[in-house]
Amino acid sequence: MLGKKKSATGRVIDLVCGMKIDPATAAATREHNGTTFYFCSKGCAKTFDSDPHRYEQA
Ligand SMILES: [Zn+2]
Repeated sequence: MLGKKKSATGRVIDLVCGMKIDPATAAATREHNGTTFYFCSKGCAKTFDSDPHRYEQA
């Protein structure tokens, strides 16, 4: 885990790790069923890809 701290301007939550992120600076995004999901890292996006349903239910 990288302990990189960003300014507290996060407006969306990375559903994989629960981190608040700013959509403008998200490392990765995914569209699923018409919803855009934002991720702090490509690793989180990959995790999402492996099981999108798990996160859309949340
Ligand atoms: Zn993440």
